[in-house]
Amino acid sequence: MNNRANIYDPIPVKIVEGHGCWVTDITGRAYLDCLAGYSAVSHGHCHPKLVKAAIAQMNRLCLTSRAFDSPLLYAWEDKMCKTFDGKMILPMNSGAEGVETAIKIARKWGMVKKGVTDGTQKIIVCDGNFHGRTTTIISFSSNTNYRSGFGPLTPGFLTVPYGDHNAFCRALRYNSGVVAFLVEPLQGEGGMNVPPDDYFTEVRNICDENDVLLILDEVQTGLGRTGYVLGEEAYGIKADLTILGKALGGGIVPISCVLDRRGTIMDVLGPGDHGSTWGGNPLACAVSMVALDVLREENLVMNSKAMGSYLLAELKEMGLNARGRGLMIGIETPLGTSRDYCLKLKDQGILVKDSHGVVRVTPPLIITLHEIGLLLEAIRNVFK
Ligand code: PLP
Repeated sequence: MNNRANIYDPIPVKIVEGHGCWVTDITGRAYLDCLAGYSAVSHGHCHPKLVKAAIAQMNRLCLTSRAFDSPLLYAWEDKMCKTFDGKMILPMNSGAEGVETAIKIARKWGMVKKGVTDGTQKIIVCDGNFHGRTTTIISFSSNTNYRSGFGPLTPGFLTVPYGDHNAFCRALRYNSGVVAFLVEPLQGEGGMNVPPDDYFTEVRNICDENDVLLILDEVQTGLGRTGYVLGEEAYGIKADLTILGKALGGGIVPISCVLDRRGTIMDVLGPGDHGSTWGGNPLACAVSMVALDVLREENLVMNSKAMGSYLLAELKEMGLNARGRGLMIGIETPLGTSRDYCLKLKDQGILVKDSHGVVRVTPPLIITLHEIGLLLEAIRNVFK
């Protein structure tokens, strides 16, 4: 009997085990996982150090709730702020919760520090965005399927084209009460869209000139995915609020957060303004801290950059229309739907997923040159 809500149309493979870049299905067939849990499994499946840390913490303490304090949360906050140059931090669980939290912070900051009347705060977002699936977040999605049937939608959002800083500037000129710009350093779900090189430098300046917060959603781009610790580094800028998630839990536990990079934004929140039963739980903190260590010890950021550059160059060499940065790559499909290509790649032993007209390739950041070779061979067979 199938009791499942019908919200996904998965690639037909039933996975029972995973180690490193490889997963095994119920028949015992091995596949190279080049989706990596939508970029959450950057460290590879069941990384031994992460599993060990999780088991050790599970035997000690898993959940306190924020009604009480835990020294592990202080340690995690400290490590996170040092690693990502943050001044204040707020832990949550999913990426969407991180985004929701950033929206609340920006709105309250706008009222308290910028003097915008409560209820009139506006946040500018981009066409083709993907920030999650909650009611407020889908309210500003440009994908009608994501919104349709879920009204009434949350007001207070303006959409501008991605990669066009002049359009962003114009939106600010013609609208009052704008408190923040929420944007991805590289659009993932929207089709692996890379903005022009100077886009974020311009955006940063425009935000500064207009006293508007720059909120970078690094839920997917963060932690080495684009070949940089944070996606913002590719543009030489620093966000005001940074949202992290996915790989932050090492592919083992859900954990997300909002980082205040200035230290004068998140302080608008007081007790009772926000919360989460599981946010910042000891188990997630323990695993997440080891995930940061592994990222550094195993040079995952450098590997992402090196493997990603090689893969992208080889794909272009094959004549394919491919784009991305680091190990966040999209390949346009010349004939048929991108799902058809994903199904054929599955038959070749490669797991990937389609998103908005591209085959999305986001393998674990531990992927080796040999495994990239296997991926390229399969792509050559399917795209020929
Ligand atoms: N933000 C970005 C950029 C994402 O890619 C995603 C998920 O794909 C999210 C937010 C939502 O994260 P979650 O699925 O953990 O809620």
